[in-house]
Amino acid sequence: MTLLAERTTTTASDALAEAEVALLPTGSVEQHGPALPLGTDFLAAEAVARELADREEVVVLPTVPVGVSEHHRQFDGTLWTDPETFEAYVRDVVASVASHGVRKAVVVNGHGGNDDALKRVARDLRQSEVAFAPSWNWWSGLDDLIAELFDTSLGHADEVESSMVLAVAEDLVREAALADAEAGASDSWGERVHGANVGLDTADFSDSGAVGRPTNASREAGEELFDRATEELAALVDWLGDRDLDALWPEAHR
Ligand SMILES: [Zn+2]
Repeated sequence: MTLLAERTTTTASDALAEAEVALLPTGSVEQHGPALPLGTDFLAAEAVARELADREEVVVLPTVPVGVSEHHRQFDGTLWTDPETFEAYVRDVVASVASHGVRKAVVVNGHGGNDDALKRVARDLRQSEVAFAPSWNWWSGLDDLIAELFDTSLGHADEVESSMVLAVAEDLVREAALADAEAGASDSWGERVHGANVGLDTADFSDSGAVGRPTNASREAGEELFDRATEELAALVDWLGDRDLDALWPEAHR
């Protein structure tokens, strides 16, 4: 199993020589309503990434827990960094593993608020031909499964995330509070007024911090989500592993 932070510098060298793809879990430390832990997003991403740590072509990097979460600031415990700081930090982590020869990476992300920054990281690393490092959200290939299981799409601290945490860190879920989470939840993200979204912070539109129907969560559903997410990530790693790095750099001009 290759969790880089558990290696020594000498035992890391073999693993790095064999590895084709680095996985960097990212997420957030932000409110997820009264039932789910603040670390929900990074815990989910880390669990999915670590499921692939036994593959010899994979090295799992230590998790970057805090992300772009200022829109949850009114809720106790939320931590955040500005997008530029997050972007520069993630870029440096990927660039440093690239300097040891692992120049393909997937940023395994658990927080949608990080998306824009991670896209800029991927573009920048590719443009400079330092690394090819797309980001991937654990739910990104699961729209059909989520619709089938819950007849909904992803919200926040909802039935999807609650199920996922029940599967990966059950002890951290306060199941008795799922009903409170739902009672104070909104049905959708934001607040639309004549086409403008005037719900800029989560506190503007959700009393509990949740968006969705968390009481519909189950551990069984979470295990399906987890299994499907790890299959998707494994397929992405296979795809990346097969690619010649030269073919991944941007075209010069057309
Ligand atoms: Zn979340």
